Amino acid sequence: MLADAVDETVDCDVNYAAIVRSTGLGSRTVERNLMAMATLDELPALRAHHEQLHHLDLARLRAVESALAMADRAYFPELDERITRYLTATRPHQPLPSPKSIRKRIKAMLDELDASLATDEEDPELPGTTYSMKIHDDGTADLFARFDAPTAAAIDARVRALAEERRIGHAAAHALLLTGEDAGVKVHMNLYRAHDVEEAPVYLPRAGWLNPRRSAEWLARASTVRDMDEAATFSTDAYRTPAILEALLEGRDDVCRYPGCPVPAQFCDNDHMLNHADGGTTSADNLVNLCRHHHNLKTAGHIRYVLDAVTGHVIWLLPNGEWVEDIPEGPLTTDSRRWVQTFVQRRDARNERARLEAQARKRLRDELLEKARDTPDEGDDATGGGEDEGDVACPWSADLLTEPDADPQTEGHTQDPDGPDEPVGLRQ
Ligand SMILES: [Zn+2]
Repeated sequence: MLADAVDETVDCDVNYAAIVRSTGLGSRTVERNLMAMATLDELPALRAHHEQLHHLDLARLRAVESALAMADRAYFPELDERITRYLTATRPHQPLPSPKSIRKRIKAMLDELDASLATDEEDPELPGTTYSMKIHDDGTADLFARFDAPTAAAIDARVRALAEERRIGHAAAHALLLTGEDAGVKVHMNLYRAHDVEEAPVYLPRAGWLNPRRSAEWLARASTVRDMDEAATFSTDAYRTPAILEALLEGRDDVCRYPGCPVPAQFCDNDHMLNHADGGTTSADNLVNLCRHHHNLKTAGHIRYVLDAVTGHVIWLLPNGEWVEDIPEGPLTTDSRRWVQTFVQRRDARNERARLEAQARKRLRDELLEKARDTPDEGDDATGGGEDEGDVACPWSADLLTEPDADPQTEGHTQDPDGPDEPVGLRQ
């Protein structure tokens, strides 16, 4: 493995220099690739699987590494098994998950294993929220702002809606909104929450599952509640997709259903599998979210698909005679539903454990105070002994990798460095 060749006692840049020279890659990329390889070394089952199939490219290995950067090493054996299972094809023509899907799935696994990661009531200040401006010689300037994901999703939705309404670019729409020259247009964002699971987490498309504090914040802003069970059976002969059905489709599909395409469902068209003109109904079993690009390809007849009404799986028929299956990953899918239930159970179990530990600490402190009062000669500041009572051992191991995910996925076809991922037909 490449990572084995690195002498850890030498400064990183010295190590990278030779690789940078021989590969022509930037030192940052070399570093990230090496970290990805080092992480693979910590996942023996995945490594063995990969050495057999060579199916994971560096972008996917980096996705594994960045998703695991905050993970407690104690979970690695369990994660190794789960990630290997996830990256093992179970059906013929199953597409390899995109780097974005890999990151998302591993984060969900981590949340499930350590509910504390996603349910931190304190919602610690996000370390990376920054704002800066860079002026260039050609008279342009970049504005850079990093927000929490739900806020960014809301801003982006407003920008895109205004750009479409006024038929202007996204940057121009930003300017109009920020300078106050345009009040903007109203946008709707869907939140998803299981109504039959107490204190279930909220899913906001693009931002993902929210922690309890953000869940409460966003729920307080909700103006309409729609029952998705009702939407599942909704059907009309009208062409337009009503809001309730739009919400269901977004919650099922999450993104464009062309395999590996990252365009959020929010910005996709609802495509009638069987054309409306040919008698196709406007219902969940005949509608699929497709981005404009893939919608056009389908309309032109270059690609075709079949939607499985029960599972929501989409089978794509490609021009070369191959076929590939796309599995939805939205919050309304069976997998997500199972995840919510396990997540809530684990969180409750963890809270109960924390409560019992707090009680035990209190009992111990009371006993110590009691003892100290009985023997005043042994120390004047007996009450000072309790100052550590709130301390909890840091759960992170010392070799914690703190590199942020430096490979953010840009959504859209032209900017996404990893995609849109072409389907990879994995045959068994
Ligand atoms: Zn697409």
